[in-house]
Amino acid sequence: VRHSHFRAARRVISAQVQWRANILPRRSLHQATIGNDAPVQSSGEATRLAVKDNIAATGFTTTCASNILAGNTIPFDATIVRQLRERGATVTGKVGMDEFGMGTHSTTSAFETVHNVLGLEEYSAGGSSGGSAVAVRKGEAELALGTDTGGSVRMPAAYTGTVGFKPSYGMLSRWGVVPYANSLDTVGFLARTVEPIGKAIVEQGLYLEHDDNDPTSLPTQARKRCTAERKGYASWNPSKEGTIQGLTFGIPIEYNIKELDLRIRQGWMMVAEEIEHLGGRVVPVSLPSTKNALSSYYVIAPAEAASNLSKYDGIRYGRRNSEHGSDSFDGILYAKTRETGFGSEVKRRIVLGSYTLSSEAMDNYFIQAQKVRRLVKKDFDRVFKLSNPLQDEEAFDLSEMEETVQLENKFGPAQVDFLLCPTAPTTPPLLEDVMKQTPLDSYMNDVFTVPASLAGLPAISIPMDIPVDPKNEEEKLLSFGGLQIIGQYWDDARLLSVADSLS
Ligand code: GLN
Repeated sequence: VRHSHFRAARRVISAQVQWRANILPRRSLHQATIGNDAPVQSSGEATRLAVKDNIAATGFTTTCASNILAGNTIPFDATIVRQLRERGATVTGKVGMDEFGMGTHSTTSAFETVHNVLGLEEYSAGGSSGGSAVAVRKGEAELALGTDTGGSVRMPAAYTGTVGFKPSYGMLSRWGVVPYANSLDTVGFLARTVEPIGKAIVEQGLYLEHDDNDPTSLPTQARKRCTAERKGYASWNPSKEGTIQGLTFGIPIEYNIKELDLRIRQGWMMVAEEIEHLGGRVVPVSLPSTKNALSSYYVIAPAEAASNLSKYDGIRYGRRNSEHGSDSFDGILYAKTRETGFGSEVKRRIVLGSYTLSSEAMDNYFIQAQKVRRLVKKDFDRVFKLSNPLQDEEAFDLSEMEETVQLENKFGPAQVDFLLCPTAPTTPPLLEDVMKQTPLDSYMNDVFTVPASLAGLPAISIPMDIPVDPKNEEEKLLSFGGLQIIGQYWDDARLLSVADSLS
């Protein structure tokens, strides 16, 4: 039975793929180096922490890479920065990002485009937490803070050969983090390996700390209840032999899209094989709402962003532009401040979000997107063995939509511990090509990362070896992809252990 499941999963990934003869044997993460790796810090020293520029840290400006916040300082530490400082971390600096976190390649900053690491400078470092990924990859910090709304920690990890972890929604406090889309925003970590992240979250107890200042921070009681439901799982077992033994991993068939790079697809397959060798099971699963997740995300995130960014008007917040002789309260001040303060991607999101929230469009866009979000959550809850401790009453009547989804669901209930898929459909693109992309092309890149964000689930991207043609110089340079592992809500500790074992 086990082998027939695996063959089915294998068929899912390899459908219509011409297998290439030059697949190299799987190498360890540490061999998949880019060229300028600094040694990982030895224990005992203070952890150097790089902080994304939308997270407050005293002694540094917080600009969100936007002209509207140029030179802005916040006179307190974000809760997460305070928590890490209390645990011995030293903030080394603020790092580059996409303006307000809106982007996928760290190219929408008002100040600087983030470049990938040495040897790969011409390539995208991913976004929006690109600076955080590059800082840890270059050894400038052992740990970096990023934010992940729809993939912004996982995508840069995949493009730089680092580890990027997005925790369960509500686990880490967002107080002192400039909001992009509140119902999706999470604080995440980047590092060279899983270990410092597992240590901070589990061993040093970050997952247990509620913060009264953040209304979305999970209350202490709920944390205890969720943790108790996870029984033996709520511990961190770095690289323990047998972590994978007996676990079931689902390969979502809907993630095998035609745009998926052949080498990434093969890397995905190689990991599935390795899991089988380690005593795990790999089975195909169906998440039929996946194909609508991206559209749902790009309605919800801009809607929340438009609402959040309305406060930057030059009066309440934001650097005022009172040129043109108008410092009066007549609307010109607002318009000029916002016109010169925001970059084009941010403006695009504001226009999009304002439209989908307008009275004539609301039902067709925002409400529909919320329904799709529900279905995405239900897909995940159906395939995971563990139940979702936050399952709540249906807020919408989904019966009609569900019927369609059931028809498209090819596999019925499968029970898996984790889901396994690529983080990004391709290896990092050249920055030159990114500049030529339409906004839609760039949104498409988030297709694998937004479902977990919509469902608030923990997800991690770890480096994945991909086959390399030794005669192809570009392939030799880009010998890694990102492998994404997604877990059920509050299964973060086990997710980190599994990720550690697979990297
Ligand atoms: N690329 C996505 C966006 O632009 C995700 C960004 C993020 O997670 N902050 O919205």
